[in-house]
Amino acid sequence: MFFVKKEIKKKAERGLRFFLEALFPVFCVNCGKEGLYICEDCSLFLSENSLICPVCHESSYNGKRHGCCKKRYSMDGLASVWDHEGVVKKSIHHLKHSDVYHMAGELIERSLRVMIKDKERFFDFLEFVTEETTVITFVPAEKKDEKIKSLSVSRLSCVPSEGCHAEVLAKKLAEFLKKEEGVQSLLEKKKEIKRQEGFTEEEKTKNLKDAFKSKARKIPTNIVLVDDFFATGTTMKECTNVLKRGGAKKVWGFSLTRIV
Ligand SMILES: [Zn+2]
Ligand SMILES: [Zn+2]
Repeated sequence: MFFVKKEIKKKAERGLRFFLEALFPVFCVNCGKEGLYICEDCSLFLSENSLICPVCHESSYNGKRHGCCKKRYSMDGLASVWDHEGVVKKSIHHLKHSDVYHMAGELIERSLRVMIKDKERFFDFLEFVTEETTVITFVPAEKKDEKIKSLSVSRLSCVPSEGCHAEVLAKKLAEFLKKEEGVQSLLEKKKEIKRQEGFTEEEKTKNLKDAFKSKARKIPTNIVLVDDFFATGTTMKECTNVLKRGGAKKVWGFSLTRIV
């Protein structure tokens, strides 16, 4: 019965998606060609990211934290797929500001294709994220953004009303990896966070200190934390801190891009 219901839901979603795509045709964010958000020609300009240790930000072949960088509540690895520039930077901007849920699907599918093709480098992340016990979660949205998203995303693209861009990406990742339990919302913002543009690393850390809290009764042991891009990593590090203090043992970050 559960299976039948799931199939009906899937068919309904496919139908709705078909309808939405007919209504809102997709164009390349870079050159305007119809068909994909990043057309095949423009995808040639995507630059793959070199992986780093999320603690010291020095090179790490497979994105794992260096043994010598281990701290009690530090991230255990970071998988970022592209450099934060050009067409993918534009796509993320659109995703954040135009609520295009289908774009999240295209970006996640594309990122998985890159990781599978480059499976030697991404092996550790792929093995961890596909483990049955690993739970996917996301960096919670700004309160103000949440309100805007909940209005427009749900209207356009059958996303749960509490949707935000990191959540939508996490959901798409779980969907493509066929994670039965989907995504768990484990964190929430405790305070309004000031815009961080122009802040030094120290000011960012101070700004984000105690900004998040756990909202789950039980924090899972293995977690993949999703965000759209990784800049200084202050947000992901603060979220990891909360998750690990709450009982998580291993936390990998996943972001589509990283600012290099
Ligand atoms: Zn194009
Ligand atoms: Zn390191």
